[in-house]
Amino acid sequence: MIDLKSLSLQEMTDVLKSMGQPAFRGKQVFTWLHKGARSFEEMTNLPKALRDQLAAECLLTVPKVARKQVSQQDGTMKYLWELSDGNCIESVLMRYHYGNTVCISSQVGCRMGCAFCASTIAGKVRDLTPAEMLDQVLFTQLDSGLEISNIVLMGIGEPLDNLDTVLKFLELVNHPDGMNIGMRHISLSTCGVIPGIRRLAESNLQLTLSVSLHAPDDETRSRIMPVNRAYHVDDLFDACHAYFRRTGRRISFEYAMIDGVNDNDWQADLIAKRLKGMPGHVNLIPLNDVVESPFKPSKRIAAFQRRLESHGLTATVRRSLGGDIDASCGQLRRKAMEEAKKGEMSQ
Ligand code: SAH
Repeated sequence: MIDLKSLSLQEMTDVLKSMGQPAFRGKQVFTWLHKGARSFEEMTNLPKALRDQLAAECLLTVPKVARKQVSQQDGTMKYLWELSDGNCIESVLMRYHYGNTVCISSQVGCRMGCAFCASTIAGKVRDLTPAEMLDQVLFTQLDSGLEISNIVLMGIGEPLDNLDTVLKFLELVNHPDGMNIGMRHISLSTCGVIPGIRRLAESNLQLTLSVSLHAPDDETRSRIMPVNRAYHVDDLFDACHAYFRRTGRRISFEYAMIDGVNDNDWQADLIAKRLKGMPGHVNLIPLNDVVESPFKPSKRIAAFQRRLESHGLTATVRRSLGGDIDASCGQLRRKAMEEAKKGEMSQ
């Protein structure tokens, strides 16, 4: 089966040509798919015989809403999507004054093993396809009825561990005949996969790169983020500086504040030292309490922020949205998996 929605307009046109169709059919099908068509049958400007042939030979992914939670506090919406193979992933729709932002997943699960993160507990099941990434944006918009203007790749999974797919997805979601979302409205967050950062720099896209730093010293970082054992902090900052030189884009450093682990003043001083020569932005995140994790939220966020600012850095504290709906990092999928397990056991 050909996964049409994962194809670029050119590739789609070639597939349709190989079926004996004129070139303009490619754009027709592309437009339908990027509007969120749920079947080939509804593509009424295609000949019936072609619709039947496409239905027989091509895959059309349509994720099902397995669960949906809406925050009473701030309107944040969390979707648990069931994919065609039964796997589930999450997306979160956040409503900011500058527009609606969807946070999407890049993999089913994650193999990076960060000690504080719920998404990685059961490991990685598989990579998502470009279509499955696009579907999250498309069907969140269709289901919510809210136009999406911004995307963050900060859901389940490590985008730079699935970079070919992510690059294809970016091309698709950015396409003028598709959702047409500008690169400057897209952020990608990585735990620090250096070869991926270097490849991304080469592709020179105007998206915003976020690096999940969480500690500026190897000892602490390797303890909470196994990826650091392969890619050390020195090398990570070399890659970040190179990224900035190549793209001219300011990097955002994510920093989840963990009590007694990464919230000491000397660590703020070390962040400042490492950022010298580059306009970095540090985003302090109140740690989300994950039941399975031994870490507790820091009580020193304001003091840490002041310390960073005393070095001339910009540091913000992330406003937490959707606190009443498990709205962060794999917690809903985790809960659904636990419940399914209990259900099986009681049968
Ligand atoms: N793999 C990518 C993107 C997914 S995680 C990455 O690591 O950046 C999105 C962000 O949430 C990352 O910065 C991650 O470190 C952070 N995060 C994970 N668990 C968290 C928790 N319990 N509290 C606060 N932030 C968390």
